[in-house]
Amino acid sequence: MTQQEIDLFDRMKLYGGPGRNRGNIIGFYPSDEFLRILTIEYNAEFASVFTMGINTHYLWVGTIDSILLPSAVNGNHEILIKHTHPKGTAQPSCFDIDWLFKAQKEGSPQTKSLILPIGKDRVSFNINTPYL
Ligand SMILES: [Zn+2]
Repeated sequence: MTQQEIDLFDRMKLYGGPGRNRGNIIGFYPSDEFLRILTIEYNAEFASVFTMGINTHYLWVGTIDSILLPSAVNGNHEILIKHTHPKGTAQPSCFDIDWLFKAQKEGSPQTKSLILPIGKDRVSFNINTPYL
């Protein structure tokens, strides 16, 4: 982990862990390792999201098997760079596919995204990837 990531992790622990189903501006691109460590620590999905227009990095926190991301905020597209699957599922869920499909319908330039399944290598998916 980078020093920025270690500092953020320490702050999260200090405040009793991250709030669920919300996003926070972190201002940097988080590493796969950092997202995987957070996922194991808090048993929840974590997502790295880049907001176009304001060009800022967000960290989103979901639950054990879902994450509720907006596809756009104030007219700015949200780019889902990557998200974790705590249970190690190496395929997208129907919600992952639906999210990407909806984002594209709204004009997002995003064509694919990454999943970090705990215990497995990261995988890429698009709207045509078979889902679970
Ligand atoms: Zn997913």
